[in-house]
Amino acid sequence: MPAKLTRSRRGRAQRRAVAAALLVALLGSACAAESTDGAGGPKADRGPEARKEAGAAGALAARAARIKRDQTARAAAAKKWGLARTPLAAPPPPAVKPKITTRKGFEVEGQESMPPVFTTVPVKEKVVFLTIDDGAEKDPDLLRMMSDLRIPYSAFLSDYVINDNYAYFQRMQDRGVSLHNHTLNHRYLPGLSYAAQKREICDQQDKLEKRYGKRPPLFRPPYGNYNRDTLRAARSCGVKAVPLWAAEAFPDHMEWREWDRDLHPGDIILTHFRGSDEWKGSMPDLIRKVMKTVTDKGYAVAKLEDYV
Ligand SMILES: [Zn+2]
Repeated sequence: MPAKLTRSRRGRAQRRAVAAALLVALLGSACAAESTDGAGGPKADRGPEARKEAGAAGALAARAARIKRDQTARAAAAKKWGLARTPLAAPPPPAVKPKITTRKGFEVEGQESMPPVFTTVPVKEKVVFLTIDDGAEKDPDLLRMMSDLRIPYSAFLSDYVINDNYAYFQRMQDRGVSLHNHTLNHRYLPGLSYAAQKREICDQQDKLEKRYGKRPPLFRPPYGNYNRDTLRAARSCGVKAVPLWAAEAFPDHMEWREWDRDLHPGDIILTHFRGSDEWKGSMPDLIRKVMKTVTDKGYAVAKLEDYV
């Protein structure tokens, strides 16, 4: 490069650009060499098929590296937050969501045209789903802990307990959590008329949409109690599915729906936004306890909305 040019501003910029390009090329070839290690002869000898394979291998290696990085971060977070073991990484989300039908014995009349009611998502993999209800306790540690641990969960919110601090759940949504419907006032729905149920469910749909910009696709009736009017009302205002739960988590124990008192692939776990004033521990205590159960049994927590 002529000296005259290198002295100019433009020359320096060009040199920096060339150096940057060289660095990218070097890094690129290093990655390619690593990812295609043992896959065949020198690059120049390969046809388009081999190059395509090398590309796929590179993508796979990049994914493996990302998973490893994630798991390293999760292990550090587990230590920081005092978890007994590092939570397991969930498999990639399914390309196609499973077809969900209403659990046997949970149907109402005309169920075929209603949103499905279920306690377990039909999957083969050892994943479970974590759902947290109501919204009374608004612990900032929970937000930090779950982000650090990279554990997905879904929130089912009742207006009467979140209305003193909507912003907390906005922060939750900003961290990738989906907010769903758990009625305005947490009433026993089968005791209400269709019109009153519709107000409880559909007014909360409107409120959540107005507040958080998304209309919730999921609805959970308080106490898990519903009748035909509940599902009709929910259907009328855009509810797609009604996930109940297979197990309920507390800071000191689990309660099980099934006779075998165990987790199963696709089980939905329910717990609540509650503080030490309401039960035996803080939200982080609760997460430590439920994650110990989940991890000890060899399950990973996956994101409900990836499957439903
Ligand atoms: Zn509730």
